[in-house]
Amino acid sequence: TQTPETHEFQAEVRQLLDLMIHSLYSNRDIFLRELISNAADAADRLRFEALQDDTLFEDDPEPRVQIAVDKNARTITITDNGIGMNRADVMDNLGTIARSGTRRFLDALTGDQKQDAQLIGQFGVGFYSAFIVADRVVVHTRRAGEPAENGVRWESDGRGEYALQSVSRQARGTAITLHLGEDQDEFLEPQRLRQIVRRYSDHIALPIELLGEDDAPETVNQASALWMRPKRELEDSDYEQFYQQLTFDPEKPLTWMHNSVEGNQAYTSLLYIPAQRPFDLFEPESSHGLRLYVRRVFIMEDKENRLLPRYLRFVRGVVDSDDLPLNVSREILQHNRLIDRIRGASTKRVLDALARLAEDDPQAYGRFWSAFGTVLKEGPVEDPGNAEKIAGLLRFHSTHDETGPNVSLADYVGRMQSGQKAIYYLTGEGLAAVRNSPHLEVFRKRGIEVLLLAEPIDEWLVAHLSEYDGTPLRSAGKGELDLDELPEAEADEKADETPDASVQALIDRLGETLGERVSAVRSSTRLTDSPACIVVGEHEFGLNMQRMLEAAGH
Ligand code: ADP
Ligand code: MG
Repeated sequence: TQTPETHEFQAEVRQLLDLMIHSLYSNRDIFLRELISNAADAADRLRFEALQDDTLFEDDPEPRVQIAVDKNARTITITDNGIGMNRADVMDNLGTIARSGTRRFLDALTGDQKQDAQLIGQFGVGFYSAFIVADRVVVHTRRAGEPAENGVRWESDGRGEYALQSVSRQARGTAITLHLGEDQDEFLEPQRLRQIVRRYSDHIALPIELLGEDDAPETVNQASALWMRPKRELEDSDYEQFYQQLTFDPEKPLTWMHNSVEGNQAYTSLLYIPAQRPFDLFEPESSHGLRLYVRRVFIMEDKENRLLPRYLRFVRGVVDSDDLPLNVSREILQHNRLIDRIRGASTKRVLDALARLAEDDPQAYGRFWSAFGTVLKEGPVEDPGNAEKIAGLLRFHSTHDETGPNVSLADYVGRMQSGQKAIYYLTGEGLAAVRNSPHLEVFRKRGIEVLLLAEPIDEWLVAHLSEYDGTPLRSAGKGELDLDELPEAEADEKADETPDASVQALIDRLGETLGERVSAVRSSTRLTDSPACIVVGEHEFGLNMQRMLEAAGH
């Protein structure tokens, strides 16, 4: 044991702590969920490292979390026998340097306490939530496999600094003691703690034991891997709670799929479709993926999108294989036939579940689409084999409908005029610009629907999706329109095939003036109200794509 050293928290951590202490008071129950979740992570990491070295279990192989209350001292202590931390771990994780999520958490705050408290777990700043209820926090910890002398004691009142001290600690793992602030006595009541654990942490897969003043430890949660339990035993509320525990997403998931595949390559999967976007959906390195387990041992988060393709990266959940080797590595995952099979089957399950959701609950599907539609549009490019299925899930704005985007390709095809041979779309920058484009005039006049594609990704999408159910997709802004293909609107007269002399003179004049900048000037039946418009050749990139390429320096 040495004398404690004092260290300063970095400015961002101070800001975070200040916030915890002063303004995240509603929903303060979540501190317990966060600390239990850390204990469960620590148990997962121990089990994983022990695959290589089972002496790490020492003489205490059964993972558990204990919550002990001391009413006289007004403390709660949460103790785990997980991986623990050494001095460097403590400094890295509980202090000096702000973790990567800290800044983003601070940026994402809305000022609504309830909502902000919900963000804590998503941004990896859960530990500090202890300071919502405690005015002093003391951590004792020792890393698995290291000698007792390498124990560490960390203490802080959450203001500017923390004290760090080497101590001797026999027990492996981490004990966190919360000295409760004034008015926090409710958390000394076992009944209250039991209620919080059941509410937020019931499906944590290790036992959470409550130690009252003098009674024997009582396991207060289900303590089993939910995905291994038979479906018929599980209620919607069980699935929903497990989802929250997994994702820290306060919204309920839209739907989920729970499947067990038997046989000599057995696995179980539980996949959820969330209702709202995570903050990092469009960052190149998504911070999470499905959680991969091998026979109930947590192996890794599938951040590299092996278990599901990237365009389904919004799916959250668990895959637990009976037949992968326990020492499976990222490299093995890259080339593994069982993983390929899981990926193929899971992709199909997700696409089928989305189709079902669209059919059964269009409103929920609308929520899905506004959260993740843009990501799903990457699908036909990334996964041509499933392009037809994905195409059926797409939703567009259209001239037929001022609301939306809610027009499917099937809706469109169902409304096609007799004799119409293509699905027409128009791409452009921004919905208002596309909706007001002169290219639409002739289509409006003839009562032909056009899909309005205003997102940058749409250019890639239509470049890879040439048809739907046998009907080709064709740009309303490209090439010469063959009006004979389009059905006539009732009172429509066909435009003259050959322009008269005065029009021809104007065409010649425009051609001379524009010179090299255009490939041709011609009269057209395309327009009804506007005098002129620009079209691109059938085989050239759309204008919007050209703008994108220019912006990218091509
Ligand atoms: P997150 O859990 O999202 O990483 P937290 O703020 O909850 O963020 O925890 C910060 C880090 O502190 C963890 O990633 C882990 O490295 C470490 N830590 C926290 N609690 C424990 C614990 N009980 N056992 C071991 N390490 C822990
Ligand atoms: Mg955490």
